Amino acid sequence: MQKKITVLSGDGIGPEIIAEAIKVLNRIADKYGHTFDYTYVDIGGCAIDKYGVPITEEGMACCKASDSVLLGAVGGPKWDTVPAQIRPEKALLAVRKELNLFANLRPTKLFAQLADASPLKKEVVGGGIDLLIVRELTGGVYFGEKKTEEVNGEQVATDLMPYAEHEIERIGRVAFETAMKRGKKLASVDKANVLETSRLWRKTMHRLSEEYPEVEYSDILVDNTAMQLIKNPTQFDVLVTENMFGDILSDEASMLTGSIGMMPSASLSSGTLGMYEPIHGSAPDIAGQDIANPLGTILSAAMMLRYSFDLAKEADAIERAVDQVLDEGYRTSDIMQEGCRKVSCSEMGTLVAEKL
Ligand code: NAD
Repeated sequence: MQKKITVLSGDGIGPEIIAEAIKVLNRIADKYGHTFDYTYVDIGGCAIDKYGVPITEEGMACCKASDSVLLGAVGGPKWDTVPAQIRPEKALLAVRKELNLFANLRPTKLFAQLADASPLKKEVVGGGIDLLIVRELTGGVYFGEKKTEEVNGEQVATDLMPYAEHEIERIGRVAFETAMKRGKKLASVDKANVLETSRLWRKTMHRLSEEYPEVEYSDILVDNTAMQLIKNPTQFDVLVTENMFGDILSDEASMLTGSIGMMPSASLSSGTLGMYEPIHGSAPDIAGQDIANPLGTILSAAMMLRYSFDLAKEADAIERAVDQVLDEGYRTSDIMQEGCRKVSCSEMGTLVAEKL
């Protein structure tokens, strides 16, 4: 298989963690007979320094013309005071919009070896957590009409939360397809006892569930989901929800693992093009020291293989390699535990690549 990958290393630890993900992808290419062609495009602060904008038009065109985009992270104190319209994060929003990335996939995986890092008790998470939240990313209350007006002598603010059936259907399809690639279990999160948008959401999900009889489907209210994520997170496989609920629940879920450097994510369009990135930022406090944890980025590359290139075997191999390296007691400093061996960012990447 031959694929074009646009690589957006970005700022801070971005180039360091991306280098390790590329090391792992190259090993996969060698071993399984694929060709990955990389084009590096400046994004964020480094692009502002060179071109005066956080991503150039040519850079954006390159993202659009590729099979997939791999991102490190953008931003840092150096660019905190640049004008709002050219801030580093503007480039991320622009790429999401231009590529029509309406589905955000955030796995929460607590590796059993790192159970001590979780704020939850061992008897709750001892066996590890492995769930994935599919969040609608371009609709709902964040994008609906907003206004503040004076009514009866006081200020009244309104945010509309519109959802069209086709928006619900397309995110629903991503969720069912994702469940098919995982444990075939899907919980749809809504607030159908109160919200009209949730009632349409639920109706649409029920219609879709008939097309996926193999997927064990259930509805769950958002308030109950927030509780269940703490009480019994191992009950979940895939969760699907609208934009704001997903924003809140995915942050809650990511905290269950206690280690930000381990967490990958994917943002998908209706085709196979997606953008893959770790959930953390550019960590300027540790940049340039070769001590960052590259596993979130390496696992993001595994998601790219699984969701954009349909290379499940190769994705499984990377996830297994990460598991093995942790099993053997290798840790970067952010996840260091007593009795383990501390390794650098580049050593960690090499160890994972060697296990493949
Ligand atoms: P951050 O995620 O960069 O860092 C938070 C803490 O986690 C820091 O102590 C950092 O050292 C640590 N950390 C993060 N990733 C790590 C890794 N892989 N290995 C080891 N430790 C890691 O968040 P922040 O400090 O709030 O933001 C720093 C910059 O990143 C800001 O400019 C912010 O705007 C930007 N940011 C970018 C993105 C993105 O590119 N998607 C996301 C969030 C923040």
